[in-house]
Amino acid sequence: MWAAISPYRNSEAMKAVEIVEVAPRDGLQDESMVVPTKAKIELIERALATGVRRVEAVSFVHPERVPTMADAEAVMAGVKRCPGTRLAGLVLNERGLDRALASAVDEVNVVVLVTDAFSRRNQGMTTGQALTMWSQVAARAADAGVAATVTLGAAFGCPYEGVVDRAWVGEVAERVAESGPSEIALADTIGAAVPHEVDALVREVGSRSGLPVRVHLHNSRNTGFANALAAVMAGAHTIDASLGGIGGCPFAPGASGNIATEDVVYLLERSGFETGLQLGGLIEASRWLAGVLGRDLPGQLARTGPFPLAPAAA
Ligand code: ZN
Repeated sequence: MWAAISPYRNSEAMKAVEIVEVAPRDGLQDESMVVPTKAKIELIERALATGVRRVEAVSFVHPERVPTMADAEAVMAGVKRCPGTRLAGLVLNERGLDRALASAVDEVNVVVLVTDAFSRRNQGMTTGQALTMWSQVAARAADAGVAATVTLGAAFGCPYEGVVDRAWVGEVAERVAESGPSEIALADTIGAAVPHEVDALVREVGSRSGLPVRVHLHNSRNTGFANALAAVMAGAHTIDASLGGIGGCPFAPGASGNIATEDVVYLLERSGFETGLQLGGLIEASRWLAGVLGRDLPGQLARTGPFPLAPAAA
């Protein structure tokens, strides 16, 4: 028998880590093919069937800007809701919030890019203006009884300004916290971070904001999984991941995408953390998604399978 001992955990209780499945939004947004609405709905439902409790399902951005997300309302209307699960919609402004609330999302997520150069190019506003937009969205979401979260984009590095100062990200997090989000996410949007930076920023933002910390990691430079382990060891409660590891990075051409859900679940479960997800179901969903997209995906477990091997295969 394998001893259930992990070098990373010395407490008897397994520490729960929540996984947010982001393939339906972040993952599919950068796909060149437009995935049919029906397949998007199936993707969300397959994720929920593996035990995922939170899904970033859609984004409510202008259809001309992101045509692949133009069917957000139809996706939200088509998904069979499960009790105890939350479907999130990304919003970039109050118009997006109107659509999100009309679609009965359980959660809205707002992105605040922490550098002015990136924020201007991506959202047409400075970081300060994005913070104002967030406070307006937060107030209206609270009135509607909908949870609101904030993702601090480019928190570990910016394609225009380079290395980002940790104290500055902490300051932005404090300002975000004033409007009462349910958590703050730190996004390594371009996949530049290394573990000691993740450790330090998770601790900084957790202590300065007093809020649970979620991380959103990209594997552009193959540091995503090491960063995920560093994040949970530093106290992050929640990790974003995408089935198959889909989701490109426009600022790192050729890079693989988000950390793959099935791969990070394997890493965490074998390191003494508990995700509540079924690895076999995730692998199956990842293989199904590869079929929908018609290509091999970056995730490894769909190829190698889990370990220890099942007795029949050993
Ligand atoms: Zn991503």
